[in-house]
Amino acid sequence: MRAYREPRTSNVYEREVIDRLRDEGFRVQKRGWPDLIAWRDGEIRLVEVKPCRRCRKLTPAQQTVADVLETAGLHVELDGGLCDWCSGEVQSVGEGG
Ligand SMILES: [Zn+2]
Repeated sequence: MRAYREPRTSNVYEREVIDRLRDEGFRVQKRGWPDLIAWRDGEIRLVEVKPCRRCRKLTPAQQTVADVLETAGLHVELDGGLCDWCSGEVQSVGEGG
């Protein structure tokens, strides 16, 4: 099981909502959401942008969100540049483990 840490917030309203959701049994996270959402005629794409789309991995928070979204049927793509050592096609999160 991935380590989970409840988000900190100085916003009292956000604090109340987080507490209520936790009491209802939800895990709550603010960090780690994909950088971009793109949509077209009902199609949605969620994209995490990295300096190198091949060798830069998701942070633990990003991976947690990607796993949650995947469970909900939404795929997070990894895109961006390529470093000096890498070349090739876009690598998708979750492919090949
Ligand atoms: Zn690279």
